[in-house]
Amino acid sequence: MSVTEVIGKGVFTEDCSEMVLVKDIEFYSLCEHHMLPFYGRVHVAYIPDGKIIGLSKIPRIVDLFARRLQVQERMTQQIAQALQDALKPKGVGVVADAHHLCMMMRGVQKQNSSALTSCLLGAFQTDSKTRNEFLSFVRSLNALR
Ligand SMILES: [Zn+2]
Repeated sequence: MSVTEVIGKGVFTEDCSEMVLVKDIEFYSLCEHHMLPFYGRVHVAYIPDGKIIGLSKIPRIVDLFARRLQVQERMTQQIAQALQDALKPKGVGVVADAHHLCMMMRGVQKQNSSALTSCLLGAFQTDSKTRNEFLSFVRSLNALR
């Protein structure tokens, strides 16, 4: 499936300019370097500019990019870019927090370490207030675990 097929008719015109955040989206993917799973959570935020996306579409976009051979850095960027292309929002922020079996089972054997990747576009990159609001929210989520 393509991003366009996943989104379908799920984009709506809406006069809303506050940050929308969908947190703790579980994902399971497969590391293309080692053919071993990596899995974790993705937090996705955007600031609409006249268009919003049905909230249930966001986890489906995450799944679309997770369910293939991947590297976490690229997956994070692809999710952000898909929302950027579909909505032309004021900004997009995506953070992925994942455990990699290739780290846990192979050489280094670090059972509890996780890898954090982020992709910040538009206002999330240029406006420190927006970026801090998003990142402090993600940090507070992690502190709860
Ligand atoms: Zn790997």
